[in-house]
Amino acid sequence: MVEDLEEMSFTIPDNVLDEIQQNIQDIISNFDVPEENKLEVIKQINFMYTRSKYLSSTDELTGLFNRRSFDSTFEKEFLRAQRYNNNLTLVIFDIDYFKKVNDTYGHQCGDYILKEVSNSALQTFRKTDTVFRIGGEEFAVILTETDINQAKIPLERFRKTVETLELTYQNEKINVTVSLGACQYKEGFTNKSEFMELTDKALYEAKNTGRNKCVFTTL
Ligand code: GH3
Ligand code: MG
Ligand code: MG
Repeated sequence: MVEDLEEMSFTIPDNVLDEIQQNIQDIISNFDVPEENKLEVIKQINFMYTRSKYLSSTDELTGLFNRRSFDSTFEKEFLRAQRYNNNLTLVIFDIDYFKKVNDTYGHQCGDYILKEVSNSALQTFRKTDTVFRIGGEEFAVILTETDINQAKIPLERFRKTVETLELTYQNEKINVTVSLGACQYKEGFTNKSEFMELTDKALYEAKNTGRNKCVFTTL
């Protein structure tokens, strides 16, 4: 079901989903259920709704928010930055030579590494900074109320944390590194794709100039 949703090119906006939830509650309250069971029915529907909302926004392997969730959050934060001129930094990071990890130790080991790197990201960044898995071994972090200079410290800390992770899979010690690209929102951006492309370019530069580093876009 999650995969099906991810392949869809159109996503239902959150406000519409909330309206659907409200409608469900209205239907249930008119539904012919004995009075004493009504609360239980509403609870069950709410649970199912919350669970399906969670599943549609979460990546099953890592527990991080997924691409679909990134697209809607990034859109929201971009509009907010445009409107209020808030500081906003976008980061894209990618595991270095990940194909080699899969080829050497197998896909399951690759999955284990993906989970460990995701956990490190969750532990390193603040609760207000959201981490997403936006592709196979590609991730994004949206740092709200953060300019590029403030982003440098946690990003460098994260890079170092991954570099020094002691990963062991079936008695094999494995080391991985990540490359990161970061860019701060600028008033001149006309759309979010421009913002994303510049961040991607920074990541590309990190990859092309040695990997295991973070490149910060300076406009
Ligand atoms: P680079 O340093 O340039 O990023 O090199 P790379 O090898 O990491 O990049 P490349 O794009 O060539 O390979 C990415 C690999 O990620 C290939 C693919 O098999 C693997 N991958 C993508 N999604 C998953 C996943 O869910 N699990 C596992 N185990 N591997 C995955
Ligand atoms: Mg990679
Ligand atoms: Mg990649």
